[in-house]
Amino acid sequence: MSLSNPATALVSSYPRVELGHFPTPLERMANLGADFGIDNLWVKREDCSGLAFGGNKVRPLEFYLGAAAAAKADTVMITGAVQSNFMRTTAAAAAKLGLDCHVQLEDRVSDTDEIYQRSGNVLLDRIFGAKFHHFPEGEDEVAADRQVNKLAAELSAAGRRPFVIPLAADQRPLGALGYVLCAGEILAQAARDGIDFDHVVVASGSGLTHGGLLVGFRALGRDDIRVQAMCVRRDADSQRQRMRRRAAMIADLIGHDSLIDEADLLINDRCFPPSYGKLNAATQAAIAAFARREGLLLDPVYSGKVAAGMMHMAAAGDFAHAKGVIFIHTGGQPALFAYEPALTTAYTKMDNGS
Ligand SMILES: *Cc1c(COP(=O)(O)O)cnc(C)c1O
Repeated sequence: MSLSNPATALVSSYPRVELGHFPTPLERMANLGADFGIDNLWVKREDCSGLAFGGNKVRPLEFYLGAAAAAKADTVMITGAVQSNFMRTTAAAAAKLGLDCHVQLEDRVSDTDEIYQRSGNVLLDRIFGAKFHHFPEGEDEVAADRQVNKLAAELSAAGRRPFVIPLAADQRPLGALGYVLCAGEILAQAARDGIDFDHVVVASGSGLTHGGLLVGFRALGRDDIRVQAMCVRRDADSQRQRMRRRAAMIADLIGHDSLIDEADLLINDRCFPPSYGKLNAATQAAIAAFARREGLLLDPVYSGKVAAGMMHMAAAGDFAHAKGVIFIHTGGQPALFAYEPALTTAYTKMDNGS
């Protein structure tokens, strides 16, 4: 199925490699829609983006690795949480493109067990043949970037051509172009299928996904679409600060200035606590609701928290007047296996009625 994507022209000057299966499906969630009192509830299946269990890092990688190919890189490097989905898909893409891959695992989550350290995405990184590095300080993005750049300099000195995928807020958010494209894809799909929507619910971590979608809709003239972001990495005040800057940088990448104003930044951290990568009861309940009512798997770190936030807003009546709501399923399911002990305990308790 091909779609004519109105955002293609916005990003066509950037090199890109094809890695994913697009367009991803846009499906109705009739059961949860009825449960939440939302007539038109949809899920955009970014978890089905194809490469190595999919998720929302495949579209950004098409642009980062496009830039890497243009720079004739032979090695790609990335830093992130131990259970990073970005690392897993980078390791897979590097394998496919014949590049070496170095991953730097940051200790972002306290009190983790062996299963967290070895299973889920870490196991997959290992299968893809990634080379592992460790960084002890999980809350210092800039220091983590500095460290990975130091490793890159060492590789360069040894005659390699490394390309570093940057994550810190001051770096050029090239990967967000993938979500500018996704905004166009959603508009084309909705138009083709007669889907009326005015709300999108999405995770906001690095902000590539949130920022790309928001800037994409605005650049395509859709000021009516409310992009509701849910915090997964830091609280709403810090995330808003980050997104102001990110949104401006993304708009700049596609040749616009001041597309986004303060009222566009709808950021909710109700279901974020206690911290990055730590489960809470609302997230456990949301994972169960999506699984048991729709046969859909969410993850404990990102999409589960976003779904919990959406359920909380629905219960408060925040979508009562919505024409339609699209939940962006960003993937992340391999982490379910890294959180196995906590999830087994939670659902055993839930099903025993305690
Ligand atoms: C990385 C990730 C996010 C957050 O997306 P950003 O673009 O970093 O804001 C959400 N969900 C999943 C499953 C992820 O892996």
